[in-house]
Amino acid sequence: MRIVILGPPGAGKGTYASRLTKILGIPHISTGDMVREEIKKQTDLGKKIKEYSDKGVLVPDDIIIKLLEERLKKPDCKEGFILDGFPRTINQAEALEKIAKIDLVINLKVPDDIIITRLSNRLICSKCGAIYNLLTLKPKKEGVCDKCGGKLYRREDDRPEVIRERLNIYRKQTEPLIDYYTKKGLLRNVRCDDLMIPPEVMVEKIIEVIRETVEEVS
Ligand code: AMP
Repeated sequence: MRIVILGPPGAGKGTYASRLTKILGIPHISTGDMVREEIKKQTDLGKKIKEYSDKGVLVPDDIIIKLLEERLKKPDCKEGFILDGFPRTINQAEALEKIAKIDLVINLKVPDDIIITRLSNRLICSKCGAIYNLLTLKPKKEGVCDKCGGKLYRREDDRPEVIRERLNIYRKQTEPLIDYYTKKGLLRNVRCDDLMIPPEVMVEKIIEVIRETVEEVS
């Protein structure tokens, strides 16, 4: 199954997708992780995209579409994938249509106050990319990843002023995708109105939607 997870920054896309990938046996493809990987490697491309990413603005469509297209050509994507953070513009959605047929778009609906609290308390593993939260998903040992022992850090774009910019960009450039995929009959909403809902509960809700979609088409 080819799934897109849509939602504002801090909606939980990465957290849920990293759990869904294990349950569904299809890869979790995060363009944000790909961007951070390129930056870490300090490639020419990495240096160019760091300027965008640090400010919380979108990397130009042509760059990100090319990165994604290359990733989707890899053999592990044959049976499907979970896209997290792509598409983020109508232009990207149209490009994606030419690359792959999407079966389902999960739209995470999360109020702004939850998003801001989440992002302000988020920590990421510098080694494996695992996501933690000081309020809801604390590491066992302060500053250290439970999974790989890597050092946890705060993302450059999780600073309050950048969070606001990212939310503005989401509203302007990404939110129109809700309408776009609704018109195509692919969109299903999953709500999260409580900051303290454990990720497992949200993942179960998403799995239920996936089950219903599979039943509808079969
Ligand atoms: P994320 O981890 O998904 O919040 O992405 C982090 C940053 O990477 C974003 O703020 C953008 O600068 C860049 N990025 C990730 N995915 C995309 C995309 N689909 N289009 C443009 N920029 C992206």
